[in-house]
Amino acid sequence: MKLFENTEVAFKLKSDTELERAYFLFKMIQSEPMVRIGTAMTNFALKVHLPVEGLIRATVFDHFCGGVTEEDSIPMIERMYKEGGVSSVLDYSVEGKEEEESFDGAMEKILKIVEFSEEKKSIPFAVFKPTGFGRFDLYAKVSAKEELTEDEKAEWERVRARYDKVCSTAKSKNVPILIDAEESWMQLSADDLAEEMMQKYNTEKAIVFNTLQMYRHDRMAYLKELHQRADEKGFHIGMKVVRGAYMEKERERAKEKGYESPICVNKQATDDNYNTAITYMMQHDNMALFAGTHNEESALLLVDLLEKSKLQKEDKIVWFGQLLGMSDHISFNLAKEGYDVAKYVPFGPVRDVMPYLIRRAEENTSIEGQTSRELNLLKTEKQRRKGK
Ligand SMILES: Cc1cc2nc3c(=O)[nH]c(=O)nc-3n(C[C@H](O)[C@H](O)[C@H](O)COP(=O)(O)OP(=O)(O)OC[C@H]3O[C@@H](n4cnc5c(N)ncnc54)[C@H](O)[C@@H]3O)c2cc1C
Repeated sequence: MKLFENTEVAFKLKSDTELERAYFLFKMIQSEPMVRIGTAMTNFALKVHLPVEGLIRATVFDHFCGGVTEEDSIPMIERMYKEGGVSSVLDYSVEGKEEEESFDGAMEKILKIVEFSEEKKSIPFAVFKPTGFGRFDLYAKVSAKEELTEDEKAEWERVRARYDKVCSTAKSKNVPILIDAEESWMQLSADDLAEEMMQKYNTEKAIVFNTLQMYRHDRMAYLKELHQRADEKGFHIGMKVVRGAYMEKERERAKEKGYESPICVNKQATDDNYNTAITYMMQHDNMALFAGTHNEESALLLVDLLEKSKLQKEDKIVWFGQLLGMSDHISFNLAKEGYDVAKYVPFGPVRDVMPYLIRRAEENTSIEGQTSRELNLLKTEKQRRKGK
């Protein structure tokens, strides 16, 4: 698509070596057996403490992550902002921890990032994952409306307190905060917490953003109901709208437990649902939208909706978001046209961000066309540089 075709703009920040590495990486990811075997071997090697971290760093990690710490990630964030006009969302991507100290540690990290964001124009948002602040099974139990033990009630209050601390700090520093969405069977309680925070802190504008996964067929109804409650209670809605990253897991669980799958019947239904949600949000006031997508049609639709709206390109109410290492042709070409664009920049110790990296590899393998699109763009740019 014309707007996204300029590979010189897309890969301006990549050296020839980085371009070659990206090409090699997507070639590997394209092969499903390679991803399956590579994932199993890497997990095994990390488990038995083989020295593979260097290899992971030099390949997938450096392509998809900003660094091990937030400080490591800053030089690249600043370059993307200064040279490409693309902002960043520092994403502490440590997953699968279940201890209270980890949850408190994650909260401290996010608070630090909120402070970073207050100082740096290049980092307009902070973000956290619900399960970064509490146990997955506890969210699931609250979502299922099961009776909690006294200990669990106290544990849940600690989760709520972490949300509140981060959201109130975000409000006082005027830094919007995104809350990621995860598996549907734990999401209800996370949605309720996010709504509670929106009601409390989104009184003048959207500071707290929840996430809608539009591969779920019930999300449009949810958005409309939330809209009604927001109007009644007088708060703004902040929403990151994505398609959803846990499709296979969702379908498998539904099949195993014998309930109707929460996922749309096919890709087209998800695409339609996604486009309906962003259109709905653009048609109503008091809503701020962060469209997290690598889908060209959806990005173009949003460009079109923005052009037709009263909003200015750089009003900072509508954002386009992509992940670091993916769809640079969308991010950098949109930023060049003056739209607000932010990349998620994951960071964390190599072994702790593996679940995130594996999701990226599997996603790129399973999404028909996306990897070949990346490969074609990289090839075009390699040829363009050779021809100079
Ligand atoms: C900035 C950003 C933040 C994100 N945050 C989150 C988050 O908080 N939670 C989360 O879950 N994901 C998140 N994601 C990932 C996101 O949900 C998608 O997995 C990813 O972006 C791919 O979707 P896409 O819109 O780019 O488009 P495409 O590549 O066009 O679509 C692929 C997606 O379509 C859906 N799909 C594919 N095949 C089918 C099918 N047969 N039937 C139904 N649906 C299908 C799946 O959701 C799949 O991931 C985020 C992505 C970005 C860019």
